[in-house]
Order: sequence, then C-alpha cells, then structure tokens
Amino acid sequence: MHIDQETKVFGLIGYPLSHSLSPLMHNQAFAVAGINAVYLPFPVQPDLFSSVVNAAKTLGIQGFNVTIPYKEMIIPYLDEVDQEAGQCGSVNLVIIKEGRTLGFNTDGIGFLDSLRQEGHQPSGLAVILGAGGAARALGYTLAMNGSQTVFVNRTLPRAQQLAQEIISLTGQESWAIDYGGQVNEYLGRANLVVNTTPLGMFPDIDKMPDIDLYRVDSKAKICDIIYNPVFTRLLKEAQDLGLRTMSGIGMFVNQGARSWELLIGKKAPWQEMYDVVQKRLLRD
Ligand code: NAP
Repeated sequence: MHIDQETKVFGLIGYPLSHSLSPLMHNQAFAVAGINAVYLPFPVQPDLFSSVVNAAKTLGIQGFNVTIPYKEMIIPYLDEVDQEAGQCGSVNLVIIKEGRTLGFNTDGIGFLDSLRQEGHQPSGLAVILGAGGAARALGYTLAMNGSQTVFVNRTLPRAQQLAQEIISLTGQESWAIDYGGQVNEYLGRANLVVNTTPLGMFPDIDKMPDIDLYRVDSKAKICDIIYNPVFTRLLKEAQDLGLRTMSGIGMFVNQGARSWELLIGKKAPWQEMYDVVQKRLLRD
C-alpha cells in the first residue's frame, strides 16, 4: 500500500470494533480498483463520541461507516440525512463533502440486494425476529418493496412501536408479537423469515431464536443477518429440513459495496469484496 499526500482517508466508527471485517473489505476494494485511499477502524469511546464528526472534518476524513452503538446517536450531529436513513432513524454511512455531512443507511438495501441476488423478490409476509436497529432498516425496506411484516420480539412494546411506525411510514400492514404460540401461525404464512437478533453469533454459536422450523412453509426462505459464523445454527437446522437459507455475509458485503459506491462514485468490485470476507470468516 502506498500512502502519500493525496491518499483519501475513510473509516468505521463504533465501539468496540475488535472483530470488524469492514477495513479488510474496503481496503481490498481500494487495492483492486487502484484507488489511492485507506479505510481505518476508529473505535470511539462513548464519552468522546460528541466530538467525532468535528474531529473527522478537522482531519480531512472524507467519509465513514457507523456501527453499534452509534447508528442512531449520530443523526443530530449531521447536516443532512437522506430519506431512507431519516425514516429508519439510523445512519450507517456519513459522507463529508465541502465541510458538510450527509447520512445514509445501506443496511436495508444491502439485505434486499442479497435477496435479489438469490432470485427472491419481497412479497407476501416477512417474519422478522427482533425489533432493534437492523430489524427497523430491513422491515422498512421490505415494506417499501411490497412485503407485509410481523416483528417477533422478546420485548413486545418495542415491536409494537416499530410495527406502528412501519404502517405509518409505508402504508403496508405490519404486526407485533412475542415468542408465544402466535408465532407458528405467522410462520406458516411467511415466505421470508429473517433473524435480526444476535442469537447464534460467535462465540454463542449454539443459540438460535425460539421458533419451530417445522411450521415454516416449504417454499419460504430462512435468512440470518449474522455473518460470523457464516452458517448459524438456525440456518443449519433449516437446511436439515430442506428449507432454502441465506447467510448474513451477502448483506454485509452488499451494505459495504453500496457504501463504497457512495463514497467513491464508482462501481464496487463486489466479488473481490465478498471473496476476502468469506475467506477470512471460513479461516477463523
Ligand atoms: P439491536 O438494536 O441491539 O437489536 C437486537 C434485537 O435482538 C432486539 O430486538 C433484542 O430484543 C433482540 N435480542 C437480543 N438478545 C436477545 C435474546 N437473548 N433473546 C431474544 N431476543 C434478543 O441490534 P441490531 O443493530 O439490530 O443488530 C442485531 C444483529 O444484526 C447483530 O447480530 C448484528 O451483528 C447484525 N447485523 C448484521 C448486519 C450485516 O451486514 N449482516 C448489519 C447490521 C446488523 P429486545 O428488544 O427484547 O432487547
């Protein structure tokens, strides 16, 4: 890697950041595309967060991704937020141009890209397990693209609030339930089931959401947005039942590729980004 006066600096802000694969993925894309830029991890402690946007501007950083726990907290510090990020209430990308900061969210569209790459178009009912930030981004994007949604959450009021917001933002039907018996009825009608909870994520790989996969229609697709491990227990059990599955690795690469394209203004080298991430995940 060659660093000089012209090298553009990008990065990722979150806390902690020890396991993030974003720097690996974005730097691979810069190398493949021959772009004089570097992407760095910036773990920002919560007590210093309020100064992060000014610090980035001062240092000439041209843009950065945002991850847990700052996706919502960053919004008041930005000059503008695009429509999707504003409606999701969550920003995972900030571009700094001529001193102004603009926020985007590429999580929802990244997930949709993955579905479409696998020939699946959103329609009918999507069962979304969880009601946090990722569920909000996915639910909004799926609803905007024609799906009805039901949010299944441990904390029912959080899911109820989210379902109400989805209805008022998109005009699509949306419901909220907890992990009781009603889940089975919705699972039987769903053509998409998505885990957005951390259940099954490394190192707790033996966990999975408390749903009965036998109830799922045989034509439904079971997705996990966890990408470490690539195949979670949920996906393995679904595969054993002959159900179609999709790992979170595609969403991770697609949200990254969408971010890269907004930052750089060129088509991202998707395959190389995917390959470097998959190779690292399967090695670990
Ligand atoms: P979040 O805002 O903290 O939401 C987490 C959700 O999971 C909440 O609904 C929470 O329920 C539920 N949950 C947590 N622990 C649970 C448990 N033990 N049992 C049942 N439900 C539980 O987090 P997030 O930002 O949405 O991220 C969620 C996951 O998505 C993370 O694993 C993250 O790595 C992954 N993710 C992946 C991508 C990708 O590109 N593939 C992108 C974004 C996020 P309560 O409301 O009851 O607390």
